[in-house]
Amino acid sequence: MNLVCGNCGQTQLDNTRRWVCGCGGLFDLDFAPSLDRDAVASRPPDMWRYQEALPASPASFTRLGEGMTPMVTLPVAGRNVLVKTDQSFPTGSYKDRGAALMISKAKEIGVTEVVEDSSGNAGAAVAAYCARAGIGCRIFVPESTSPGKLAQIQLYGARLERIAGSREQTAQAAVEAAGSAYYASHCYNPYFFHGTKTWAYEVAEQLGWSAPDAVVLPAGNGTLLLGAHLGFKELVRMGVLGSVPKLIAVQAQACAPLHQAYQAGSDQPAEAETSPTLAEGIAIAAPARGAQMLAAVRETGGSFISVGEDEISAALLEVGRQGFCIEPTSAAAIAGLARYLETSPPSERVVSVFTGHGLKAASTIQKLLALQA
Ligand SMILES: *Cc1c(COP(=O)(O)O)cnc(C)c1O
Ligand SMILES: [Zn+2]
Repeated sequence: MNLVCGNCGQTQLDNTRRWVCGCGGLFDLDFAPSLDRDAVASRPPDMWRYQEALPASPASFTRLGEGMTPMVTLPVAGRNVLVKTDQSFPTGSYKDRGAALMISKAKEIGVTEVVEDSSGNAGAAVAAYCARAGIGCRIFVPESTSPGKLAQIQLYGARLERIAGSREQTAQAAVEAAGSAYYASHCYNPYFFHGTKTWAYEVAEQLGWSAPDAVVLPAGNGTLLLGAHLGFKELVRMGVLGSVPKLIAVQAQACAPLHQAYQAGSDQPAEAETSPTLAEGIAIAAPARGAQMLAAVRETGGSFISVGEDEISAALLEVGRQGFCIEPTSAAAIAGLARYLETSPPSERVVSVFTGHGLKAASTIQKLLALQA
């Protein structure tokens, strides 16, 4: 299996420490998955049950008890929608899917030190799996990151580097540090996406190896969106599913470079004006894989939706009344789901996701509740 540049086609061996091609293009993996449904059924209910579809050696799998999250029904806009409970992952977000596989691969190729930049959840996930794998870890975060996420990263023993500046300046600081350590980036590293693709494998298996009609997912850097697309495409290629579901990608209106590009018919992210949003996890002004995300959504016949701050807080509070504690970023996806259902035929089978746990953003939720009172 090789890393292949999406721009010039040049390849790198899978033990490379390069995170971007010499031409500036991003790497994907040339990897042929396989799937034996009987073997899968005989294994424990976690993401490693799809091991023939995962591009790392089982001897290096680094486990904290991740995957096969329950799918629950959520009443939204008078319909019962299936939602994956990925807020119940070991570190409290679906980023564990990507970090578990990426750090397993890093362990396999002998990495001893990684750097990563994150608005919080990816950093917490990478820090936790590095702790489990015995790999040193430095996480760069913007100074505005929620205190709960910072505490979590430090609890796992990672070195925390708080950067005074934007999300983009934080990424730049990590890139500079990546000169001397492995850049375990959730945006650039293709293994991360082969971890998040297990979301699609689980959805398909939980639906009796069939595909939903549409999936509604949050979209910032696209780690879940592109991972889900990859997973569904692999399942179609292997003959397990008949079709890839429509991808419905949700952004916050306050930071919507992809929704704007989609509306303008452009194949590159728009240079969008941004303002602060409750959905900090998807506030990505210049997504590195933005063109890939636009192409993926269009290829499936899906669409982009953007939601306002009022819709995000209303969704958060409503989901809470149903007994689920989710992050404001996750609530943006549920707000998008409510919007999508306005135009979705009742016969459609729609699946969405709770991406992160609300306890990570307890102080923000407290403020929203105070505004209500
Ligand atoms: C990372 C994250 C997202 C969105 O992921 P992208 O990779 O930026 O598209 C959504 N919700 C939560 C809670 C996240 O941590
Ligand atoms: Zn290249």
